[in-house]
Amino acid sequence: MTRNLVLILGDQLTLDNPALEGFDVTQDQILMVEAAAEATHTWSHKARIAVFLSAMRHFALVLDAKQFPLIYLKLGAHEFTTLKQAWLHYVQALQPQKIIICEAGEYRLEQDLLAVAKETSTPLAMRDDTHFMCSRADFKRWAGSNKTLRMEFFYRHMRKQYQVLMQGDAPEGGAWNYDAENRKAFGKAGPQNLPAAPEVVIDEISQQVMADIAQHFPDHPGSLANFIWPVTRAQALVFLQNFVTNKLAAFGDHQDAMWQFQNGGQSAYLWHSLLSSSLNLKLLNPREVIAAALQAYQQQQLSLPSVEGFIRQVLGWREFIRGVYWLDMPGMAQSNHYQHQRKLPAWYWTANTQMNCQRQAIQQTLDYGYAHHIQRLMVTGMFGVLAELNPREVEAWYLAVYVDAVEWVELPNVAGMALYANGGRFTSKPYVASGAYIKRMSNYCASCRYKPEVKTGADACPVTTLYWNFLLKHYDVFAKNPRTALMAKNAERFSDEEQMLIQQSADKILNNLDHI
Ligand SMILES: Cc1cc2nc3c(=O)[nH]c(=O)nc-3n(C[C@H](O)[C@H](O)[C@H](O)COP(=O)(O)OP(=O)(O)OC[C@H]3O[C@@H](n4cnc5c(N)ncnc54)[C@H](O)[C@@H]3O)c2cc1C
Ligand code: SF4
Repeated sequence: MTRNLVLILGDQLTLDNPALEGFDVTQDQILMVEAAAEATHTWSHKARIAVFLSAMRHFALVLDAKQFPLIYLKLGAHEFTTLKQAWLHYVQALQPQKIIICEAGEYRLEQDLLAVAKETSTPLAMRDDTHFMCSRADFKRWAGSNKTLRMEFFYRHMRKQYQVLMQGDAPEGGAWNYDAENRKAFGKAGPQNLPAAPEVVIDEISQQVMADIAQHFPDHPGSLANFIWPVTRAQALVFLQNFVTNKLAAFGDHQDAMWQFQNGGQSAYLWHSLLSSSLNLKLLNPREVIAAALQAYQQQQLSLPSVEGFIRQVLGWREFIRGVYWLDMPGMAQSNHYQHQRKLPAWYWTANTQMNCQRQAIQQTLDYGYAHHIQRLMVTGMFGVLAELNPREVEAWYLAVYVDAVEWVELPNVAGMALYANGGRFTSKPYVASGAYIKRMSNYCASCRYKPEVKTGADACPVTTLYWNFLLKHYDVFAKNPRTALMAKNAERFSDEEQMLIQQSADKILNNLDHI
């Protein structure tokens, strides 16, 4: 007789999982399922599948070592396509008194859980995910009835609540935010003394996972040749240590910069932490990540802008994004402020485009399952809004191709930040810029067949043409918003004829998106 059936999902891989609280090895049972549908409902990158499956199999060993009764269903060794099918089967077979799970990271799965509990008339205890530093209820309270939400105010609230980088009630150093100092480019010489990413041993478990992926998902996008991602807590801790020791000092300065090396490789990672997948799978806790950064700040006398810049991402953005996801679902997944309907160009899956910025960001994504924030926001994401792509298609791509992609974090970043699909619910303006921005922040334009400053004609940079076209189309709204009024003013200098030429060039691009 099973007392509690504890469900553990692929992004809940910690012994601190609240669903394990009060677990009794004599009466309770854990169920973990590798469901093919989780890899196919968006056409997942092989590295994303590998991170989840390998980390799950490693975590199963941790549970085994504790002698927790565990039913672990491996891919290909069971008949269930979806998690819901497997849950239903085992709830019916075991007839537990209660199903226990920690809050899922996706609205769809939460709905499935509620449905399983209802269909089997079994009580469901969905426990708060204490991994996060702001609970869903606390975020809701903080947000109140405000129509627009701003991360900056939430971040200050969290800094005060957790007394992070605070001197009494005031922020350390006198300012809350050193964002303005986090936008440096590399200069002509490019990144210097770039630290190497730690090496991850591909052990037997990971090798088997890779073989399973080759068998079950042979046509999925991406490569496993450069797989570097932590799949155990021990490996994740090595990544954390490597970051605070070798990268944090320079993190702030180069947070937004992008670079293409002649030999590829290292340009993917730069001074970024590479911690997102470990955090999202719960191999790491945000509190220990913040504590490690603060310790390095004190012991290595690092600069405040670098450390604040990093802590803002983890304590500010990550928690804010999660809060807003649950607050605004399911509406967020249907939002389409601009009513954009164009199809995602095929080159998002192949990198086969003449635009070097897109080619670099996408090829790197296919090679590593990784791109840093500005590549996601200001290269592939910004192109999505300028090219009037259907948000649903762009979201599906982002959920598929990154090793750290879980819907609670992917969707608000794509729909809310990159595409402005939710109409500025938590951004004060759309993130749009011309090719000049990409030229300033990278060396991509130097080896591109297009010219970033050219707006029309054969050499025109599609990003630039589409940017001005977007501005002309939405001129009135841009002119009214103090944050974008200057951008609108810049568009005023075009004569009627220039405007017409820009619009004609843009139409040509928009009608030929697969071939630019
Ligand atoms: C369009 C778009 C899609 C994104 N999709 C995802 C996604 O699926 N999964 C994901 O984890 N992040 C996503 N992000 C946020 C961010 O780009 C990644 O967290 C970051 O690039 C991961 O690399 P890193 O660990 O080296 O991060 P760093 O640059 O080293 O940052 C440190 C940590 O801060 C957190 N963080 C930083 N920015 C954000 C943010 N905007 N939202 C939430 N957490 C943040 C991450 O946990 C990250 O590990 C997306 C951003 C954009 C613009
Ligand atoms: S010229 Fe335009 S398309 Fe080419 S890399 Fe620069 S911004 Fe991208």
